Amino acid sequence: MTAPNPRPEPEARLWCFERAGMARRKKIYEGKAKILYEGPEPGTIVQYFKDDATAFNAQKKATIEGKGVLNNRLSEFFMTGLNTIGVPTHFIRRLNMREQLVRACEIVPLEIIVRNYAAGSLATRLGIEEGTQLPRPIVEYCYKDDKLGDPLVTEEHIAAFGWASQHDMDDIVALALRVNDFLTGLMYGVGIRLVDFKIEIGRVYDGDFQRLIVADEISPDSMRLWDIETGRKLDKDVFRRDLGDLTDAYTEVARRLGVMPKQATHIAKPKLIN
Ligand code: 5GP
Repeated sequence: MTAPNPRPEPEARLWCFERAGMARRKKIYEGKAKILYEGPEPGTIVQYFKDDATAFNAQKKATIEGKGVLNNRLSEFFMTGLNTIGVPTHFIRRLNMREQLVRACEIVPLEIIVRNYAAGSLATRLGIEEGTQLPRPIVEYCYKDDKLGDPLVTEEHIAAFGWASQHDMDDIVALALRVNDFLTGLMYGVGIRLVDFKIEIGRVYDGDFQRLIVADEISPDSMRLWDIETGRKLDKDVFRRDLGDLTDAYTEVARRLGVMPKQATHIAKPKLIN
């Protein structure tokens, strides 16, 4: 007979530590896939990646083990790459498996969508076959409002309702297209087609001077990624359209990008200690 283990397994201890730390922190906001906590220094925020997946404006919900860990790592990877090429982002550093420290910013209430191939709502709205290459990258804007289902809006709405100035919009489009070039090249290098993606933009203030930065997250939750050879979907459409195991798809993206070893996402659940 083996003696009972007086101490929790390392993974369980890490989990307990994370939970204890979370309990002490002030929660600022809880969204569908992330929780934001007050950061350790003024102007910082801790972004916690949940395993929750939602689709169709939260009408479809599930908990997918390992998704938060993968998205934390992948978002770190993309944001760090963007910072390296001079695209400013909110990312400061990763704290642990599920959390990263980011710069606090004022989120522009828009989803910025860039499309290289027709898919999803564009394919439906305009009756274009999914997978059709677009003549050039198309940038669209949706007003961030869950109750309204994030409706598509134009620059006219954005200017008229004061969500962003024309000058901001010029900067936002330039940022979005740089992100598109960066991600397209990165993905192409590992045999993946970047079909489309969504980013969010934040404002930060240095004295009176305002800057726009890429915020929120960049992960397969907010992109469409298709294997170039087989067309296999490696993004949240796997969940939206019931195409298989979402963690497997995201793990494949992470593996190809060299972001994390295959097994690292499957962290054991804490065990009851007698
Ligand atoms: P569509 O408009 O075709 O549904 O989405 C276009 C792209 O933006 C897709 O890559 C999709 O994942 C992303 N996207 C659109 N809305 C949201 C959203 O509310 N949350 C996330 N995470 N991604 C979104």
